[in-house]
Amino acid sequence: MSLLVVGSVALDSVKTPFGEIKEGLGGSATYFSIAAGCFTKVRLVAVVGEDFPAKHVSFLKSRGVDLRGLSRAKGKTFRWKGFYGDDMNEAKTLRTDLNVFETFRPELPPPYRDTPFVFLANIDPDLQRNVVDQIPDPYLVACDTMNYWISSKPEALRKTLSRVDILFVNEGEARQLAGGSNLLKAARRLLSMGPSTVVIKRGEYGALLFRKDSLFWAPAYPLETVKDPTGAGDSFAGGFMGYLSRRKGLTETRLRRALIYGSIMASFNVEAFSLNRLRKIKREDVERRFRAFRGLVRF
Ligand code: AMP
Repeated sequence: MSLLVVGSVALDSVKTPFGEIKEGLGGSATYFSIAAGCFTKVRLVAVVGEDFPAKHVSFLKSRGVDLRGLSRAKGKTFRWKGFYGDDMNEAKTLRTDLNVFETFRPELPPPYRDTPFVFLANIDPDLQRNVVDQIPDPYLVACDTMNYWISSKPEALRKTLSRVDILFVNEGEARQLAGGSNLLKAARRLLSMGPSTVVIKRGEYGALLFRKDSLFWAPAYPLETVKDPTGAGDSFAGGFMGYLSRRKGLTETRLRRALIYGSIMASFNVEAFSLNRLRKIKREDVERRFRAFRGLVRF
């Protein structure tokens, strides 16, 4: 079933202890679409500038991403510059040039308005809600956010949370949003804000899935090569939502599997800069890693 993502399409400049890339393809909606595209048809809503390279558009098309919602505005594409020190779990932002993203008002092409599965990547919570308003009857709405919105627009974010089914946050954001250090208590508080499922990402330490009456934890897939964690959160959400959106039904088993597929897509993503690893991944590679993952945690 179709899956819609609204978020950023960017040119990222990233430095890690293992190398660097200048103005590579990035953005939350990009990582999400490529990861989710291994499972389902993705409809993308984003904006780029006049300088956005045609080769990136061709690549997204070649992976089957529906680009009817990608608009090209006058001006430059959104750019993000960051680096990772020895702690690869935390990005340090050096520069954010919003450019055409500053005046971005997502408008869904009419054929997108019946999309059952929706992912609101990390953008202004007022815009996230505006997207939900344009879809009369979504089956499942999920969202991501970041520290910037938690501190600058807490009220708007609360309103958005009351409209979503699944919230994806990392550990630090969960504590900040819930106001407290214990992760289990934080998750419970986040559940009381609206979502029926809260996913807390813990980088190389795995991810937790919280629901009212259940808790599931999975480690990250162990890797010898981690080059660039940029986009890990978005490819995680892409794997999770991509798997879920293959059909309706939100059983505990399917949600747990979705968490594993999320971890797998994130694990491929961090093995290379930009989308250089993810772009080569096929469904067979995903299933092979899924089986290996199962072997690792069975006892
Ligand atoms: P993550 O999955 O959290 O590592 O997301 C990384 C992606 O988020 C990068 O490709 C950036 O282009 C994008 N990004 C960084 N800052 C922002 C922002 N303020 N708004 C939207 N996207 C952003």
